[in-house]
Amino acid sequence: MNILNLLEKVQRQIHACKGCSSCREWSWSDPRLPGFVDGSTKTGFEHICPVYPSTDGFESDTVRGKMRIMKGVLEETIQPNEEMVRKFFECTQCSNCTEHCPMTRQNKLDPAELIRMMRIHLQEEGFKPPQGIKYEVPHGPHSRRLPEDWIKPELLSSTSGLVYFPGCVISCSVYYQTPEIARDFLGLTTKLDVDINVITDGWCCGYQQYLTGQTPVAKELARRNIEGLRKMGAKILVATCAGCYHMFKNVYPGIVGEPLGFEVLHSVEFMERLLDKGELAFRHRLEKRVAYHDTCDLGRKHGIYEAPRRILRAIPGLDLVEMEQNRENSWCCGGGGGVKSAYNGLALGMGSDRIRQAEEVGAEMIVTSCPTCVWNLRESAENAASAVKIVDLVTLVNMVL
Ligand code: SF4
Ligand code: SF4
Repeated sequence: MNILNLLEKVQRQIHACKGCSSCREWSWSDPRLPGFVDGSTKTGFEHICPVYPSTDGFESDTVRGKMRIMKGVLEETIQPNEEMVRKFFECTQCSNCTEHCPMTRQNKLDPAELIRMMRIHLQEEGFKPPQGIKYEVPHGPHSRRLPEDWIKPELLSSTSGLVYFPGCVISCSVYYQTPEIARDFLGLTTKLDVDINVITDGWCCGYQQYLTGQTPVAKELARRNIEGLRKMGAKILVATCAGCYHMFKNVYPGIVGEPLGFEVLHSVEFMERLLDKGELAFRHRLEKRVAYHDTCDLGRKHGIYEAPRRILRAIPGLDLVEMEQNRENSWCCGGGGGVKSAYNGLALGMGSDRIRQAEEVGAEMIVTSCPTCVWNLRESAENAASAVKIVDLVTLVNMVL
């Protein structure tokens, strides 16, 4: 693909940026700015881009500045350079800028997607992604990586068509950060007598490669995963990772150019269906003050805000509180878009901001629905010597069933 053509294809979007800076911060009290709440007693600004407060604060660190750089590259008045690589890879792809950009609806301007395209452009210009970013078909199939104790032979013999896809952060030895999520998901399906299989020929979903501008690698991984699932006769795929879910549901059909032929559910949707059927009966109480962290991929990218809260409210004894930035305004955990792999210090800084928000509302626990969020928030809490515990919703549900 001619990449300049790629930028030319989106030039209407690039030119649509009117430089308003709504993607940088909002005001609780200024009706001219996004975030305004009539009658709010709060004053001052909230940041929208979670990365910006951790930068030197140059214009090129803002989304508006990045739009200007792209315009310069498109018009060939600016040449790509190494510094530009850092600026465009210091982005978690959280889409909070897109959520707040007034030109999104009017002109279909999607700043987060433009940043992803610029990552492609920079690599086409010969620049390498920052160290730590994976840009090959990674690892082996999950079957070679999953510890045996998770996969009881009887689970692998199910022909129900319901298939679990754990994903790399949970199951791959390269990460292996949150293995309890797979154990707890399979623990709850066993307790509820759900007939489910686990993917045997599954690969990394390719989300990091996709977000860091390596679409051909992501496409190859998509092809392998779809083929493996079709061979298993999958009718419904359940992912506990919000990134894997987004890849299967929104990205795969586009990059492989055909429908998948099976339904894709996140574990939150799967559990909500069980709740609606009256099958998610909680036997234990949990006397804890809990805040739900909306993952960017499940929240802003799929609008799934109420389902996890419904499940949490149904747990006896649990006190659900909201952090200041929640739902579509949620603060990113800091771990996405390749940032945790390339700039871990930056990722932990964003995570610490989120931990502070949980402490401010007296939460003892943050519950979320993505292994990368669990991983980064957990390390951030440790770093900040915070007592706030971080768990995935499937872990909590398995605890009280
Ligand atoms: S996607 Fe998120 S991290 Fe990236 S520029 Fe937009 S607001 Fe900042
Ligand atoms: S990207 Fe959108 S919100 Fe940001 S400066 Fe441009 S028009 Fe404003």
